[in-house]
Amino acid sequence: MKLSLVQKHNPESLLAESAKAIPPSGIRQFFDIVSSMPDCISLGVGEPDFITPWRISDTGILAIKDGCTHYTSNRGLLELRSLIARELASYHGVEYDPDTEIVVTMGVSQGLDIALRSIINPGDEVIIIEPCYVSYAATIRLLNGIPVNVPAHFEEEFRVNCTRLKMAVTPKTKAILLNYPANPTGASLNRETLQEIADLALEHNLIILSDEIYSSLVYGRKHVSMVSIPGMKERTVYLNGFSKSHAMTGWRLGYVAAPVYLTDVMLKIHQYTALCAPSISQYAAIEAIEKSSKDVARMNAEYTRRRNFIAKRFNEIGLPCLYPEGAFYVFPKIASTWLTDEDFALRLLKAEKVAVVPGGVFGAPGEGHIRCSFATSMDNITEAMKRIERFVASL
Ligand code: PLP
Repeated sequence: MKLSLVQKHNPESLLAESAKAIPPSGIRQFFDIVSSMPDCISLGVGEPDFITPWRISDTGILAIKDGCTHYTSNRGLLELRSLIARELASYHGVEYDPDTEIVVTMGVSQGLDIALRSIINPGDEVIIIEPCYVSYAATIRLLNGIPVNVPAHFEEEFRVNCTRLKMAVTPKTKAILLNYPANPTGASLNRETLQEIADLALEHNLIILSDEIYSSLVYGRKHVSMVSIPGMKERTVYLNGFSKSHAMTGWRLGYVAAPVYLTDVMLKIHQYTALCAPSISQYAAIEAIEKSSKDVARMNAEYTRRRNFIAKRFNEIGLPCLYPEGAFYVFPKIASTWLTDEDFALRLLKAEKVAVVPGGVFGAPGEGHIRCSFATSMDNITEAMKRIERFVASL
């Protein structure tokens, strides 16, 4: 009897359709190959090569020693939320109430998850600008939402094209998910474009999800946030965190700032699914905000040096490359090699042991490009560019 039941009932059939349907991250798949090649230079990693500045780590260690190892308030430590509110006011001129309008999360990843869960009903559409961060479409699909792709193109410097954006809005559109400066293209948004997107959001009653995780890493320009556009605080979920700016990816700390009708719902989901962000990381983040601006400036100066070098080298070897406006990626065009981005990446890896990410993993408009991160040492970048030059010449 029991054996026949074993044969009859397949527990795998119990998996959720939405979870089964999403593909594994293209980046992860690619890096499973890379991890088996120890002498490979990786331009594939999407995280700072710097270790967390010591003063921040020390504060985390002290927090452990002092027994600050308990749950915090669901929203996060009030001191941290107050500092975040102070930063938002000073950078963007927008006041957030730390008691009600800020929730500290486990990175922007979790912030985005609770934001999307707060607004998506099955079948709702969320507009994303592709190529974009790999999690966006997958997270929307997991919630039985529909990601609607608006392409951005190299020829338009990967800027958001508002005409195409307008055409993508339907009665089912709930939100527009923006990331600026962008992973993988490095493109950002200026005030005029933000205003156009804001007008669209107002006209069609849309929410803006504004992933500004690279906002502190901009080159020769000032970052402008959607929340600074008049009327937009009321319908924007601002997402940011410490992973990139303070080299704190493993601490898993970020935050959302939004009006109360949104934070109330996000907080409920956060309470039930996470309780709170890691306490130790929250103490460390207080130090990061209060005392680490020099560390951030030091890292940014180094990224600037690398950005100028790598973009120039790609153009010199005949692979057209925009100078990114922010973040730590270049996204050169490899069409002249007549290889697909996937073939290019695989053959480069085999021939020269340099890992780059095929642009297609960031969405179809990324095909024909590769993403190279310059969050690695200048020595690595210099050597990788020699190898890429040799590889391109060999084709
Ligand atoms: N958003 C973008 C655009 C990213 O590139 C990344 C990480 O690469 C994340 C969010 C995830 O950030 P966090 O470490 O804060 O979860």
